[in-house]
Amino acid sequence: MKTSSFHIVPLPTEIADALITVDSPESSPCRHCLRWAQPGERVILFPYAAIPSGHPYSETGPIFVHADECQRYTATNEYPADFRNGRVFRAYDSNYNIIDAQGMNGSQPEVVIESLFQNPDTAFVDARSVTHGCFTFRVQRA
Ligand SMILES: [Zn+2]
Repeated sequence: MKTSSFHIVPLPTEIADALITVDSPESSPCRHCLRWAQPGERVILFPYAAIPSGHPYSETGPIFVHADECQRYTATNEYPADFRNGRVFRAYDSNYNIIDAQGMNGSQPEVVIESLFQNPDTAFVDARSVTHGCFTFRVQRA
């Protein structure tokens, strides 16, 4: 029924249209399959709370995932090949406090991650973009 005393406000199309078609290589890392989305592939950009709210280091930031189905990364005992460069690693304790952070400084990422886990207080390590700061993936003790 048509009304005259109110009208409905649907979400603007530019907000609903969250799909992005990737136009340059190594610009959009998919956090699900842990590889770079390729030019022409479609991704969704949305905010993700890598560190939940209610903590001093709480953080929500933009991440991409493929818009079309992709296989979740399964080689969980191997460092993702697409992200061997351009990452920084933050070590957190079990209360989500940052207790250490290291870049690669010419080292292999596995060496950096293992050195952060030598601290018994390290509960997990987050890999992030060294340039944009965006969360890429989490590393837990085996
Ligand atoms: Zn993907």
